[in-house]
Amino acid sequence: MMAPCRRLLRLLPVILTVTVLSAVLLWTTREADSSEDSDREYWLAVRSAGEQREYVDHKGIRVVVGHYMGDPASAANMPNLTDEVINSNMFDPKPNEGKNGQPVMIPPSQLVKMRQLFHINRFNLMASDRIPLNRSLPDVRKKRCTNKYKKIDNLPDTSIIIVFHNEAWSTLLRTVHSVINRSPRSLLNEILLVDDASTRAFLKKPLDDYVAQLPVRTKVIRVPKRAGLVRARLMGARRAEGKVLTFLDAHCECTTGWLESLLARIAEDRTRVVCPVIDIISDDTFAYVRSFELHWGAFNWELHFRWYTLGGGEIKRRKQDISEPFKTPAMAGGLFAMDREYFFELGGYDEHMEIWGGENLEMSFRVWQCGGSIEIVPCSHVGHLFRKSSPYTFPGGVGEILYSNLARVAVVWMDEWKEFFFKFTPEAARLRDKQSVRSRLELRERLKCKSFEWYLDNVWPQHFFPKEDRFFGKIRNRRTGECLHKPTGKGSLNQPMGAAGMSPCETEPILVQMFVMIQGGPVMTDESVCLDAPERDHSTTQPKVRIMACSGLNRQNWNFNPRTLAMEHIASGMCLDLPRSDNTEDSLVLESCNGYPGQQWVLEDVAWK
Ligand code: UDP
Ligand code: MN
Repeated sequence: MMAPCRRLLRLLPVILTVTVLSAVLLWTTREADSSEDSDREYWLAVRSAGEQREYVDHKGIRVVVGHYMGDPASAANMPNLTDEVINSNMFDPKPNEGKNGQPVMIPPSQLVKMRQLFHINRFNLMASDRIPLNRSLPDVRKKRCTNKYKKIDNLPDTSIIIVFHNEAWSTLLRTVHSVINRSPRSLLNEILLVDDASTRAFLKKPLDDYVAQLPVRTKVIRVPKRAGLVRARLMGARRAEGKVLTFLDAHCECTTGWLESLLARIAEDRTRVVCPVIDIISDDTFAYVRSFELHWGAFNWELHFRWYTLGGGEIKRRKQDISEPFKTPAMAGGLFAMDREYFFELGGYDEHMEIWGGENLEMSFRVWQCGGSIEIVPCSHVGHLFRKSSPYTFPGGVGEILYSNLARVAVVWMDEWKEFFFKFTPEAARLRDKQSVRSRLELRERLKCKSFEWYLDNVWPQHFFPKEDRFFGKIRNRRTGECLHKPTGKGSLNQPMGAAGMSPCETEPILVQMFVMIQGGPVMTDESVCLDAPERDHSTTQPKVRIMACSGLNRQNWNFNPRTLAMEHIASGMCLDLPRSDNTEDSLVLESCNGYPGQQWVLEDVAWK
């Protein structure tokens, strides 16, 4: 759930759209039955650790990657904040604040203080501290969900495992109370709070005393030395007694029906790993914002987690019942449930993964390749507080940690595709030989897991990675000698990614000039974007060609003619051409096929493994 700007000490932010406020406003003014997905109201928060700092998502919404804002919370690094402030619990609830998921309004006289306190956890601590621990939330489920998971007597019970490092009191305990208030009591075996060596005074004895009086058995497990979220979760899992393990981050809020629908899927098949739809708790106002259901999780070329729109076929299949669970190639990682014994049979987690990052892909590949499945259950909605940067320390350095973890994922699970990853992610390549992964490779052997190729072909057939049967490389124009490149610019709603443009070909392969082409199919590149042109456009003789979210539609299918070197747009029968002007800002166009050099393209292979 975040993104580092390594060289600039960039860190792990969550990607958030700039439209936070407007989305919140839109959402809060919606009718009671606000559960229909709507592109306009939707905004995306993504766990990611990508190179990009800003991009336009598939809905055409500008997404901004947060930045590391200085050293993490310690008084020495935060002027105007004393250790006393950082260690005090400022929880001070007002009865109606944040009610029903509404945003919190801070009185103007408090704004200066509010901004100071923001740095402690990288979210609006003052807003959080004004909201009661048992605030109400809307039931954001689709109508069909209400009756779907009513029968609960045969469901397995669960241990809720919440790991935390220096979490705020109000967010941590609001997570706990939302679990207690909105889960059938018979399904809750226990709540395990795993304290990953927090230093805040209020998370010590005051927390022990507080959980002792809760109506659901709740234990605090203390990790003596900072272990990172992987080993902290493993500690919780080893102590758990419930039949199912349900993991949550320490700043979540569960909504009605969230748990039954997850457990029902596991009861039917213990090899299912199930995830709720992750809604958004605003880091600014703490408004609860319902997110779009029809996205699944995957990753980009640098193995940063991304949400992509569901493939066309999948959406069609789901027309029959949009509340049905659907498979996802990868999970975001923080919120999921899994049969406890199956968790250990499958090898738990990779214990050599430090602090944060990569563990979600490791588990995703392992589950799929070793015989299980991962799905998203649209009837289960849990809010997660997405932040733009990370508040805590990364002992050893954030880049070192994240890319070591990712190097482990690649070496153990990705077969030939690890070479592709290392080739284009030098930060990880440097750390490749430092990894001892023998026991994980043995695990893969022992479980007789399938290949990464099988995973790509069967779990994520829409993927945009290179393969034997596809072209991978540069697309060069015969007239100018320049190369097609992916726009990095902004875009708008009608122009989600931007113009398909040209730039001087680089000798060293660079990602923005790399394309994957399937003959008769899409011309794709990283982040699931494709060369796109209208099927028929009568308003102009030269329809513009753009780079847009891959849609699987015919308007994105191309045929490369090896004889004429033309790139034929199948839907229109026209050919890819340079713009008439020499303005490099102008996008490529479609033109009647004429065989001139402007319409001749050379596909230059680049080795990827
Ligand atoms: N966490 C932890 N130890 C660490 C880092 C993180 O226990 O060294 C916890 C953290 O408190 C949170 C969960 O792991 O409950 C996921 O971390 P975070 O929320 O920062 O990740 P994000 O949701 O932004 O991906
Ligand atoms: Mn989190």
